[in-house]
Amino acid sequence: MIVAVLGAGQLGRMLALAGVPLGMKFRFLSTSPGACAGDVGEVVVGPRFDDEDSIKRLVKGEADIVTYEFENIPARAIEVAARYAPVLPGALALTLAQDRVDEKTFFRSIDIGTPDFHAVATRHDLDAAADAIGCPFVLKTRRFGYDGKGQRVIKSRDELDSAWEALGAHEGGLIAERFIRFDRELSVIGVRSSRGETAVYPITQNVHRGGILHNSIAPAPGLPGALAERANEIVTRAMHEMDYAGVLAIELFEVGGDLLVNEMAPRVHNSGHWTIDGAQTSQFENHLRAITGLPLGPTSMRPGITHAGMLNLVGDHPPVSKLLTVPGARVHLYGKASKPGRKVGHLNFGAASESAVRASMEAAGTMLPR
Ligand code: AMP
Repeated sequence: MIVAVLGAGQLGRMLALAGVPLGMKFRFLSTSPGACAGDVGEVVVGPRFDDEDSIKRLVKGEADIVTYEFENIPARAIEVAARYAPVLPGALALTLAQDRVDEKTFFRSIDIGTPDFHAVATRHDLDAAADAIGCPFVLKTRRFGYDGKGQRVIKSRDELDSAWEALGAHEGGLIAERFIRFDRELSVIGVRSSRGETAVYPITQNVHRGGILHNSIAPAPGLPGALAERANEIVTRAMHEMDYAGVLAIELFEVGGDLLVNEMAPRVHNSGHWTIDGAQTSQFENHLRAITGLPLGPTSMRPGITHAGMLNLVGDHPPVSKLLTVPGARVHLYGKASKPGRKVGHLNFGAASESAVRASMEAAGTMLPR
């Protein structure tokens, strides 16, 4: 079984680490040399993801399936790749996830709540959105935003001019969203196989710093059963409505006993990295099982682990030998050079209590470079 992956970053690398034991081989397409998935598979370097010649070199007439590991690839890349091999997840989820207005419109159309929003194409639309939503609100680019990039919180109408100056020219337009004073951020990770089988992981609680995921803990502490069930229903319905195959991650705001969808990612997700060591089947393995028509694996916690945690390693390389002394800590490095704001690895923690996971996360946190 040969799996071709559009993208060659850490998500691709962790897909291969999960798939090789199942007898799979991996080939990646990257637009720059030296991608970190190169340690675990062959990397084809091409000028663009939708370049037909590069895709031909990626698939080489022998890949059984094509998948992708980040959502900012042009939708045309899927169209081109589909000429040579099946591509999963399909184009619908990718195109919806690439546009925040289309994405929120989709969720509302299937009775799933999102923050109130307005599409903003002109300076006049921005005034109208400010009138309708009121300050504060969040102004974001509709397309190509990630890790909090391409967005700002507008606290008063005095800031409209400068916000428009900074973001107004963005190709694809903007979205204005109500600023949600959430109780916390959660994510739900579901998986649906090409045979229609579904499974959902325990709901994850996420903390962001500077727009980047800082840490996760699962199952989300103290989450009422009804909300966990609602999150389950949200991801299951979304997967079903899109006739989806693969892992789907949905980021949620918990607010006043309700859940609102912030965004979705049609791929394995940073908030699911804990599943490598904490769940019976990792999100990476289940993604591969799902797109190749294999039976899905159980998504519950591993025996002996009631809680799992994840701490991102951002920027500098960590003191590995010290971290390995932290109880329950597992080190995952991505083979990338240090750079401010870059995710260079993560730590996973597992224990038989939430407090033990938190204690280990805190101990590891104090060892990291500031
Ligand atoms: P995003 O790129 O949409 O995932 O946004 C990055 C982070 O900004 C989220 O994880 C939230 O912490 C925050 N954020 C995004 N949208 C909103 C909103 N409508 N209200 C409040 N906070 C938000």
